[in-house]
Amino acid sequence: EEKAVEEKAVVFRSKLPDIEIDSSMALHTYCFGKMGEVAERACLVDGLTGASYTYAEVESLSRRAASGLRAMGVGKGDVVMSLLRNCPEFAFTFLGAARLGAATTTANPFYTPHEVREFAAERGIPVVTVDGRFDGCVEFAELIAAEELEADADIHPDDVVALPYSSGTTGLPKGVMLTHRSLITSVAQQVDGENPNLYFRKDDVVLCLLPLFHIYSLNSVLLAGLRAGSTIVIMRKFDLGALVDLVRRYVITIAPFVPPIVVEIAKSPRVTAGDLASIRMVMSGAAPMGKELQDAFMAKIPNAVLGQGYGMTEAGPVLAMCLAFAKEPYPVKSGSCGTVVRNAELKIVDPDTGAALGRNQPGEICIRGEQIMKGYLNDPESTKNTIDKDGWLHTGDIGYVDDDDEIFIVDRLKEIIKYKGFQVPPAELEALLITHPEIKDAAVVSMNDDLAGEIPVAFIVRTEGSQVTEDEIKQFVAKEVVFYKKIHKVFFTESIPKNPSGKILRKDLRARLAAGVH
Ligand code: ATP
Ligand code: MG
Repeated sequence: EEKAVEEKAVVFRSKLPDIEIDSSMALHTYCFGKMGEVAERACLVDGLTGASYTYAEVESLSRRAASGLRAMGVGKGDVVMSLLRNCPEFAFTFLGAARLGAATTTANPFYTPHEVREFAAERGIPVVTVDGRFDGCVEFAELIAAEELEADADIHPDDVVALPYSSGTTGLPKGVMLTHRSLITSVAQQVDGENPNLYFRKDDVVLCLLPLFHIYSLNSVLLAGLRAGSTIVIMRKFDLGALVDLVRRYVITIAPFVPPIVVEIAKSPRVTAGDLASIRMVMSGAAPMGKELQDAFMAKIPNAVLGQGYGMTEAGPVLAMCLAFAKEPYPVKSGSCGTVVRNAELKIVDPDTGAALGRNQPGEICIRGEQIMKGYLNDPESTKNTIDKDGWLHTGDIGYVDDDDEIFIVDRLKEIIKYKGFQVPPAELEALLITHPEIKDAAVVSMNDDLAGEIPVAFIVRTEGSQVTEDEIKQFVAKEVVFYKKIHKVFFTESIPKNPSGKILRKDLRARLAAGVH
């Protein structure tokens, strides 16, 4: 009993009260929950073509996509792969497949038509195209020419509806099974309740720029935007000029970003505060954003609240969300990645002993709640190693909870550099490096060293025309950090490898070091 009391004391919860979440329905039914109020309002706007669809139209198109998919043989338990850049068709087919009890998996749309054709032909998979007529493929217009599906399939809350892959930052991407229940719970934890943690209003215009094939955008932009009844403006790919145009043209109020976009805007003299004046909320997630960057960016968004969300594909994906985004906001600190979402439990454990830790002590972040994944696809062994017998999902991230319930991520357990037994989180050094006016981008990785075991080294992209030297950069860091966190070598490079969700591919940089090519 003593142990139970002890355990309870170190479980962290949201400051917001739990709410009633009805996860017994189907995800699409849940997402269209405000239909009565928003049927004739703009739901999706294609930023490229200007095409606009009302909520009623999106709902109808999702029923037609369902009929079309069914005619192609898609049924309960099947998987539809979406290989699309952000576009309205992504939403129609995702919701259509959900109606049939099928799941949608996603992949990076930069695969070539040749690769896709071969893959599909070998397996007898029909291909639907959104950008024209091609031999042996069905055009999207034909798919939705069908009558609306009359009745959805019988859906169980634990049926898989989305099969996203993790980003592949630390190894091969893993297929993650998310059910109707997990996604409804996750979206509800963000945008539902009298005081929603992430307050999207009906009159908000949300920018959907992050790739929908990554769960951050699918969940916290598309599904959350639908549920709230907001207008979602879709952008196909990131470009600073186009971004500013869209923000001005559609009077964007909510901008979900990732840190590389925040860095680019913060460092670009081309983007002024006036350009982004309509934005009232900027959310960053998927990768670390240090306090310095957050502070520097604030100057570009005079009318906005800037904060972070913390997600992991396996966690459904949102674990934590900035409480300054709430309808009745709380004050938050720069550099924090939010507070655990409501209707969930979070604890910090010592990675060596498994013991739960108290406030301000860094350890592995674990999360529990109905939003987490059902498991990895076809991999019960990995599932067992990630979700323990008590239902706690172990994130592999090191972080701590402070006195105000705010979570600070230190780094990934696997990425921490061990210099003579001292722990050096590369993310902290990267955050410091990019504050240098002549550094455009930076990544820190470990390099093997006979004496120290591992030493931190930096890859640096200089700003245009900059001649800043290795020594100057080392000095810049040495002035700010304890001795064991000093940078030992600097390699200048053209760009830092990142995946589409904005994460630094440190494994690629380590491979470059190992191969002797810097
Ligand atoms: P893989 O598991 O395939 O190696 P991945 O972990 O990068 O790839 P995702 O599920 O897309 O794949 O990313 C989850 C991870 O992203 C988290 O475990 C965490 O390390 C990082 N992350 C997400 N949000 C934040 C944030 N706000 N601050 C710092 N790190 C974050
Ligand atoms: Mg991961």
